[in-house]
Amino acid sequence: MDKYLEAIKERVCTHCIDADSQGNCRISSARECTIESNYDRIVKSILATKSNRYEDYVAGLRENVCENCSYGAPENCDDRNQVECPLDRYYPMIVDAIEEVGIEHIRQANTAL
Ligand code: SF4
Ligand code: SF4
Repeated sequence: MDKYLEAIKERVCTHCIDADSQGNCRISSARECTIESNYDRIVKSILATKSNRYEDYVAGLRENVCENCSYGAPENCDDRNQVECPLDRYYPMIVDAIEEVGIEHIRQANTAL
């Protein structure tokens, strides 16, 4: 699954307000990036969602990731309300990155047949 994390970081970290101008993470050492700490669940949730509606991806995020997050909960999250969760902040970019890698993967598998 590392190819997904690589694609996410390439796309997101360079835009993240917690990174320097090169995209190097400068998040406080007292915290963990919610993208890294929830990585497996994020990828599984996005790949399991087949929809044209962004709301369905958000519903998957709340159900599969926020439900198990130590910083908040699906219905109520201070970090989310204060725009301090990198995962929530950049979720549209994360969805795009994972779907692009997933589609490329399917293409390669079919070409190999
Ligand atoms: S907080 Fe997360 S998204 Fe932001 S730069 Fe650090 S690792 Fe990347
Ligand atoms: S929005 Fe809140 S509960 Fe969901 S992943 Fe981010 S910090 Fe955790």
